[in-house]
Amino acid sequence: MKNFTKIPFNKPFLVGNEIKNIKKVIQSGKISGNGLFTQKCHNFFKQKYSFPYVLLTTSCTDALEMSAILLDIKKGDEVIVPSFTFVSTANAFVLRGANIVFADSCSHHPNVSLETIIPLVTKKTKAIVVVHYAGIACEIDKIKEFCDLNGIYLIEDAAQAIDGYFKERPIGSFGTFSTFSFHETKNIISGEGGLLVINDKSFVDRAEIIWEKGTNRSAFFRGEIDKYGWVDIGSSFLPSEIIAAYLYAQLENLDKIQRKRKALWNRYWENLQTLEKGKHIILPEIPSFSSNNAHIFYILCKSASERQKLIDHLKVNNIFATFHYQSLHLSKYYEHKHTNANKIENANMFSDTLLRLPLFYEMTKSQVDFVTDKINEFYV
Ligand SMILES: *Cc1c(COP(=O)(O)O)cnc(C)c1O
Repeated sequence: MKNFTKIPFNKPFLVGNEIKNIKKVIQSGKISGNGLFTQKCHNFFKQKYSFPYVLLTTSCTDALEMSAILLDIKKGDEVIVPSFTFVSTANAFVLRGANIVFADSCSHHPNVSLETIIPLVTKKTKAIVVVHYAGIACEIDKIKEFCDLNGIYLIEDAAQAIDGYFKERPIGSFGTFSTFSFHETKNIISGEGGLLVINDKSFVDRAEIIWEKGTNRSAFFRGEIDKYGWVDIGSSFLPSEIIAAYLYAQLENLDKIQRKRKALWNRYWENLQTLEKGKHIILPEIPSFSSNNAHIFYILCKSASERQKLIDHLKVNNIFATFHYQSLHLSKYYEHKHTNANKIENANMFSDTLLRLPLFYEMTKSQVDFVTDKINEFYV
């Protein structure tokens, strides 16, 4: 068996014209935002996924913050958010004064379900935010139907879910708003980067204004008005053309990147079958209604201490595996603000037992084999 000097958890990569595109942008004399490459990226998302309206942002966090502004979230509004997620999913709404009501994960998957959400809904519930963990769709059709029936806004935090599908329909096409991330740890990267998808046309004009620091500059550049000014609140949410240029090169290679990641993911899956059958570990569940975009390969260990021993064992072999979210309702910032009395046990279980294995575009199958050999060595 070949030994590797180091297998990192993640590694940023170039796949095509990233450098060439960035040079082009600099030579064009305009490196600020909303230029040619931003338009190219917008068109890509509209064509590939039929998203009706999109705006590139500097992060998924920004796209979530824009969603909260667009919905006029105010003090006293309740927003239901998974406990097992990244801080931004909740923080974007906390910034506008919302009370966060945390929902538990399913027992068999980190995603929330309609069942874990319904007991939390009150008259004050203004929005529900779902996360498609590891790029695996939650039961978004049922949740959307419930939101529509009850006049509640739905936001898809699809940070991890690029090129993911619920049945045949792209993830990101269900929420009033959906948000994607191109952070260097995601499938498609631009360092920092994000996307806001707007599926309700009535929010489009205001979204553009908020995106352009509260001004109607976008309309001005289209020649619709003869001067632009301050018309609403907003911020600097649009990325520079340098980021869009990097991103566009990745998007042009999306299918290639996805094929590679899926092959690595499947290799992990095959190599770890025996350990799962021996009940040493649990492998990820992919419900029949969801595609697998191969964002994360995780395993579930029996306990936090067993997981730590496995992490240490892998580290000794220069393999860097890592756990994921710690439940937000127990976080230092929110613990004392958390008031809903529902049980949140599954999220805590995933916090304690979920382990993410290395998975990145330039990883090789023999590196996957090396990782799974070392995991086998640990258990048997
Ligand atoms: C990565 C991630 C974010 C944050 O994305 P940024 O682009 O870094 O702001 C938000 N939510 C989830 C679920 C994520 O995985």
